Amino acid sequence: MKINANEISALIKEQIKNYHAKVDANDVGTVVTVGDGIAIIYGLDKAMLGELLIFPHDVYGMVMNLETDSVGAVLMGDDSLIKEGDVVKRTGEVMEVPVGEAMLGRVVNALGQPIDGLGEIKTTSRRPIEVIAPGVIKRKSVDTPLETGLTAIDAMTPIGRGQRELIIGDRQTGKTAIAIDAIINQKDKDVICIYVAIGQKNSTVAQIVEKLRNHHALSYTMVVAATASEPAPLLYIAPYAGCAMAEEFMSQGKDVLIVYDDLSKHAVAYRTLSLLLKRSPGREAYPGDVFYLHSRLLERACKLAPEYGGGSITALPIVETQSGDISAYIPTNVISITDGQIFLNTDLFNAGQRPAIDSGLSVSRVGGAAQFKATKQVAKSLKIDLANFTEMKSFSQFGSDLDKSTLAVLKHGETLLAMLRQEQYKPRQLDQQVFELYLSNTRYLDNVEPNKVRETIDSCYDFIAANNKEIFPSINKNKQILPEIEAALKQAVETYFNGQK
Ligand code: ATP
Ligand code: MG
Repeated sequence: MKINANEISALIKEQIKNYHAKVDANDVGTVVTVGDGIAIIYGLDKAMLGELLIFPHDVYGMVMNLETDSVGAVLMGDDSLIKEGDVVKRTGEVMEVPVGEAMLGRVVNALGQPIDGLGEIKTTSRRPIEVIAPGVIKRKSVDTPLETGLTAIDAMTPIGRGQRELIIGDRQTGKTAIAIDAIINQKDKDVICIYVAIGQKNSTVAQIVEKLRNHHALSYTMVVAATASEPAPLLYIAPYAGCAMAEEFMSQGKDVLIVYDDLSKHAVAYRTLSLLLKRSPGREAYPGDVFYLHSRLLERACKLAPEYGGGSITALPIVETQSGDISAYIPTNVISITDGQIFLNTDLFNAGQRPAIDSGLSVSRVGGAAQFKATKQVAKSLKIDLANFTEMKSFSQFGSDLDKSTLAVLKHGETLLAMLRQEQYKPRQLDQQVFELYLSNTRYLDNVEPNKVRETIDSCYDFIAANNKEIFPSINKNKQILPEIEAALKQAVETYFNGQK
């Protein structure tokens, strides 16, 4: 950092003048340059990394760079209000945000201030936005499912409470849709949801809030929004702020679902800051510590051991790919940090398969331990059947003469895809999911036209619910298919399909 002689002498004179002043010279500094949301400050010898600074006009800043003779800070407000020579004060505190129940149902910015026009939020506590993630002793392995209400996910890539599952795909492939459906499905399931919007349009965030409100999900959900129009520092801190709000609930022993939509834009905001702070760029111009940016965030999602309250944070980070390239820098980083990924395929999406989950590239490394027994009982062969289908399909494109068994595989695969198709905002409950998976295993559906599959499943479900009142409540209650229920289900399905003929 070069400071010219005039500036230095002015600063020294200033310091001498204030020599007997009460304030500690280490706690006050002077702005040397300001621009692009970044201020370089002279003085502040004792400033800490991540410390909150106060600029004139109530603009806040956060220390990002500690150099030998200057401090680099990012501004959380309007940088046009700050001029060279302005006085900057240390606060001695790291950045904090308000937390607590009062924030449920509200939309706040990255500093926790309300932006929904519904007035002040009366919170009593605050939490630092950056904390060290709980260590191994405090943790427990995931054992409770986090139901997304999407059959394709709950059956093939089950998510457990405390898990981190990445949602990855090109733009406009239904990434946000999956996260919103998962939030809507947490109604009456004792899970608090936080949706962190990073770098999205104001209108998109408004639409999402509206959808959440219409589906009665706002009572247990809060939205943290750092939109594209806000300065990069706010985009940078938004996910950490959201995580601090989640930690408050986790510390009370509650389960939290947090969505970071999306971390690609977060990485870009951080790259902007780093380049402005003159940190050296590395691969794809991202700074060298961009891995740490996401790892320290996602490590904070966990399931706590019962002696630490037993709360959990489940994280659903979203990452956008460019033409399906999951081996780019940010996608590979986040894939390696998370416990699995749900990969959305543009071709499937355009072909009408929605949610467009690519069953081959999607995995959940720990969620299987948390899957309900009922789903396990009926979903065992789903992934393999779909893999067989995909293989046969590409193979069968070359020849027209297909033997019976190949045709059967193809037909079954199409039935499965039709079954997994699901409209937005229509989460399916455990019994519905288990039933449709069970029904697809019976192969009755293979004789039905793919576009009639959904209709048939629903009508069969209604038929059984009306005639065998004990079957579905039992599945929901016991979370497994008891032998006598399985027998009754088999009987009921046979009756339905034989009656159809
Ligand atoms: P972006 O990259 O812009 O953030 P995205 O990947 O988050 O996009 P969405 O906004 O969730 O994608 O979805 C894109 C479009 O597809 C939306 O118009 C949405 O309504 C539609 N869509 C998503 N999922 C489904 C679904 N299951 N059924 C029908 N339409 C869907
Ligand atoms: Mg989106």
